[in-house]
Amino acid sequence: MATFITDECINCGACEPECPNNAISEGDDIYVIDPALCTECVGFHGDEACQSVCPVECCVPSADARETEAELLARAIKLHPDTTFPELDELDEATSRFRNPDWINAGRE
Ligand code: SF4
Ligand code: SF4
Repeated sequence: MATFITDECINCGACEPECPNNAISEGDDIYVIDPALCTECVGFHGDEACQSVCPVECCVPSADARETEAELLARAIKLHPDTTFPELDELDEATSRFRNPDWINAGRE
């Protein structure tokens, strides 16, 4: 699922530079995430970088746009053709939130 930003956003801008896919931008009222660019940071980080820096933790999974780890890794590869990513079965807790015990134990889906 892509991550999205709820209306609790306080427009601090902290998340925007942290996104490895430039998926975050300033919207009309709050910051927004382009779901076509969000990989939930799979391939780059073991957590969602936006949520990790957000002071009000309002970058949350979208229940309406669930995607598998494989789909998200494929998107990362497509978005960054010049970058070498681990194979799906080589992803670990540092490169996929799906394999990060801290993230899983925090109740993230
Ligand atoms: S989860 Fe990662 S890829 Fe998605 S918007 Fe946040 S920082 Fe960008
Ligand atoms: S870090 Fe959180 S509060 Fe700040 S702009 Fe991003 S989503 Fe909004």
